[in-house]
Amino acid sequence: MPANRLHEADAYLTECVTDVTGVQKEKGKIWVTLTDSIFHAQGGGQPADRGTIDGIEVLDVREQSGELLHELAREPEKTEGVVCCLDWEFRYTLMQQHTGQHILSAVIEHLFDDMTTIFRGEDFVGQIDLERPLSWEEIELAQREANALAAQARAVNCFSVTPEELPHYLPRMRHKVTPHAVIRLVEIEDYDLIGCGGSHVRTTDEVGRIQILNAKNIAGQKGARGELRLYFVCGRRAIEDYERKTADYRRLEVLLGCGSDAVVERVTQLTEQAERAAETNRRLEERLLHYEVESLFANAVSCGERLLVRATLPDRDQKELKTLCEQLVKEKACAVALKSETNGMIPVVLSQPKGYSSFQMNQAIKSLLETGGKGGGGPTFAQATLPADDCALDAAEACFDAVERGLADDVRQ
Ligand SMILES: [Zn+2]
Repeated sequence: MPANRLHEADAYLTECVTDVTGVQKEKGKIWVTLTDSIFHAQGGGQPADRGTIDGIEVLDVREQSGELLHELAREPEKTEGVVCCLDWEFRYTLMQQHTGQHILSAVIEHLFDDMTTIFRGEDFVGQIDLERPLSWEEIELAQREANALAAQARAVNCFSVTPEELPHYLPRMRHKVTPHAVIRLVEIEDYDLIGCGGSHVRTTDEVGRIQILNAKNIAGQKGARGELRLYFVCGRRAIEDYERKTADYRRLEVLLGCGSDAVVERVTQLTEQAERAAETNRRLEERLLHYEVESLFANAVSCGERLLVRATLPDRDQKELKTLCEQLVKEKACAVALKSETNGMIPVVLSQPKGYSSFQMNQAIKSLLETGGKGGGGPTFAQATLPADDCALDAAEACFDAVERGLADDVRQ
């Protein structure tokens, strides 16, 4: 006989005394079946209840072939007269959250004819997917209506009907249900009727606050069951969320040195300032690059008929050297050999304009790759990075010497 689900008749039952009817051990887990249970199994967007059986922690509750399986932290010592205790704090927040979802989904469907396709209640913040998108104004209207309805303390009635009785209720139901042996229905007094196997509070005012936190367009996304996903919290979770955000706001007030009513304005100002500073920075970098190109070119060495900018610059990474190199080659008729030392590495770049000489930069870089450097390139541009030590510095100098000789030996066509 499957367990009597006492919690389906009375969701406010926090304790019962019953017998263990079976113990199954599977892959190191211990599952027990009971004569009576007050634990809701995971399902329908509701996580499994928590609590204790005979003082042993309930780790999970699953439904299998109509039976409730309770996973325990260890095997119970007795099977008769075991005390089951529900983690009421946890369950009650779930009941608030879940009943709040009923109200919210019903209101959205009444107002906008937009159907909820799925509810996810496993995390602190609940989610519902809606068939169609809503504007933020519509979402706010739905939130106001849902809270107004919740405050009316309408009765939330949960009851079971047989497939034969179902047609009597169908005309009033928001969605159709698949007929089972027993169908559980949930009714919000004079407002909504829908099939649901979850746990609910007795009256809508127990839900407290229904707060929508965010809305995201999910059209075409993996796992999406519609076009809009709403994120919401109800009851104690809404209060907890409010308390956390108030604390965050207080910290922001201190950081920004303003009152809470000026936080948004201050952050907007700071964002604009940061954007302007980034733009100024970009322009200064451009100007600096121009001066650096001129300064380096002024010290270019002659290699026969060619010019080579050969330099060691302090604290530049590969990307910075490359940018400088590209600018030099773009603006001036010269070859370039640059190196630096930064973060324990020696970046080296070699470059020349296309057709500048028949000397190939990738030939010169080979010597560095052979001594443990990483990199590569082609005839006009080549680069390498070596771990910084005296040998590497000597190798880079030797490489630059080879470039100088190569350019000097090259005869202009
Ligand atoms: Zn429900």
